[in-house]
Amino acid sequence: MKVLSVASEAYPLIKTGGLADVVGALPPALAQHGIETRILVPGYRQVLARLKRPKKLMAVEGPAGTHGTLLEARLGDLKLLVHDAPELFDRDGGPYSDAQGNDYTDNWLRFAAFSKLAADIALGHAPGFVPDVLHVHDWQAALAPAYLRYSGMAAPPSVVTIHNLAFQGRFDAAIFPRLGLPPEAWSVEGVEYFGGVGFLKAGMQAASAITTVSPTYAQEIRTAEFGMGLEGLVNSRAGDLHGIVNGIDTEVWNPQTDPLIARHYSSRALSARAANRTRVEERFSLDHDGSPLICIISRLTWQKGIDIVCEAVDALAGMGVKLAVLGAGDKALEGALLSAAARHRGRVSIVIGYDEPLSHLLQAGSDAILVPSRFEPCGLTQLIALRYGCVPVVTRTGGLADTVIDANAAAVAAGVATGFVFSPLTAGALLSAIARMRDAHGKPETWRAMQRQGMKSDVSWSASAARYAELFRSLSSRA
Ligand code: ADP
Repeated sequence: MKVLSVASEAYPLIKTGGLADVVGALPPALAQHGIETRILVPGYRQVLARLKRPKKLMAVEGPAGTHGTLLEARLGDLKLLVHDAPELFDRDGGPYSDAQGNDYTDNWLRFAAFSKLAADIALGHAPGFVPDVLHVHDWQAALAPAYLRYSGMAAPPSVVTIHNLAFQGRFDAAIFPRLGLPPEAWSVEGVEYFGGVGFLKAGMQAASAITTVSPTYAQEIRTAEFGMGLEGLVNSRAGDLHGIVNGIDTEVWNPQTDPLIARHYSSRALSARAANRTRVEERFSLDHDGSPLICIISRLTWQKGIDIVCEAVDALAGMGVKLAVLGAGDKALEGALLSAAARHRGRVSIVIGYDEPLSHLLQAGSDAILVPSRFEPCGLTQLIALRYGCVPVVTRTGGLADTVIDANAAAVAAGVATGFVFSPLTAGALLSAIARMRDAHGKPETWRAMQRQGMKSDVSWSASAARYAELFRSLSSRA
């Protein structure tokens, strides 16, 4: 079976968040189930620079007079298709915004053209590859199922995966005539969304099935609190909605072999973690005093609950724990954490930026990771943390609730606890979870047992890839 996976990022080519990890890690896991995947990505400057000997497959004519070339290339085990269209993708900034962080004003056209190409490939227009299933990720690719539906041609089944319902790709109605869709697509069943055009909404209407990245988030998005205005549509398609939790690449994330950490270790030799912790304390200028070291590795945004961390940080610094933050995002939150670090030298520290190697070291050296998200479709940092014996302290929401087992008395007695789960997201509840963590850290046997239990959790792709494979096969046999 062949699958075309369509996404605006894919690790290790280009990454701004968990989406890239998923898109890069799923194909090798699906290969174990006899599924061959090609990933279609935009030809950003950063992507083209990484390609070795790309082959030109065909010329591409897109909506609103855009044009480009479809390239084929390999990167390690990944089979790539690349939408090379310099006018759309060859830019100085990031995948979605310029160097100042402003969204490109033609994002609608960039990702409409990208989605149209995905639909054309799904319809068999590219030489040498006709997919049995079209799998699109997030709003940037979500118009593809709509292009298929309105093509009037026999099309393969399609799946849209929602990594975060907060990002919907909503644009002004004025773009509609330039999308190259027929007039009947301007309807509630089509792309029209509250008087504008909704890319994700259109994909959710047109796709054969919808998945999201954890069972709890799949339930949450049926409610007004988490549905971001799409809860009605989510409910109307509830029979085609699946929650499949993400995995992580357990080869990349392996504390026994990770080249980016100071010292390797395993669940049987946890004392070797101490060398990583010392390195983190040095990098972040934190006290070497044996008190628990908590890290945050995150986009610094409201979604991630970083405003509540800022509210709690002074109390936290007085609790006999240390906090090391790696992240970038909202300037006000960056500023608040920088000033907290200045107030609490040796106890609180922040590195602003995106730093993959440092994120590995933090996972290997911190005692705990704090993930206080307001909502979290799946979350990858807590999965990585489990594998690294870094105990997660998380809010009870979405994928965090599905993957971390709270250390309540019963779970500790049964030996199944892997972390600390709290709700609601308030400074008070966060601080009491940190206090529970600190107290558990003071009991070395309990603590080691939790670390080991976390390291035993299956955070690989194998179970989830089996579920995607089953879904793809059932859709394809129904088609
Ligand atoms: P989201 O996709 O919502 O940002 P996830 O937890 O699903 O959150 O995935 C985030 C991914 O990005 C993880 O692999 C995490 O380690 C990584 N990450 C986030 N912020 C940083 C950072 N500042 N430096 C390095 N890696 C980061």
